[in-house]
Amino acid sequence: MKYYAKPLGRLIDELSKLPGIGGKTAQRLAFHILSLEDSEANALADAIKDAKREMKYCSLCGNLTDTDPCRICSDRSRDASVICVVESPRDVVAMEKIKEYHGLYHVLHGTISPMDGIGPEDINIRSLIVRLQQHDIKELILATNPNIEGEATAMYIARLVKPSGIKVTRIAHGIPVGGDLEYTDEVTLLKAMEGRTKL
Ligand SMILES: [Zn+2]
Repeated sequence: MKYYAKPLGRLIDELSKLPGIGGKTAQRLAFHILSLEDSEANALADAIKDAKREMKYCSLCGNLTDTDPCRICSDRSRDASVICVVESPRDVVAMEKIKEYHGLYHVLHGTISPMDGIGPEDINIRSLIVRLQQHDIKELILATNPNIEGEATAMYIARLVKPSGIKVTRIAHGIPVGGDLEYTDEVTLLKAMEGRTKL
């Protein structure tokens, strides 16, 4: 970073830590930010600070929210007897975009991945089991990504929940294997939801 004055180098350094932002893009963004009016640059900095301060995880479903419980968990018009299990809050957004699902969610914040040393106790499964025990749930939809970790996690949860008699379904493979829910187009995601099968 010797080409840059210290404050600029620091800004480029921080931006380049963001996903998908390489050194060149970080430099371009940093120069752009410096060209902004003070008010615009402050609005960006404030938005980052406020989002970090005000957003938290819903104590029921684990989704990102500024209220607890989150708006989805608090929405009495939704079907509280169905829970859709997803890996991340980004997947909730993807599901909500198809506007066809009206149940609740449970966000795992990861997947079981023995290769990375991530076991069932490291993701948000325990609270899911508690929810299933405490509420009258009729269906659990497993919408983890269709890759090795996502499938393994779905299988693990299915095995855990099956003895309870709750209907456990898995979204269909309308999504390509190795794909990512977050980047799936809405039609494919809708097809996957429609074609879900009982495990
Ligand atoms: Zn919630």
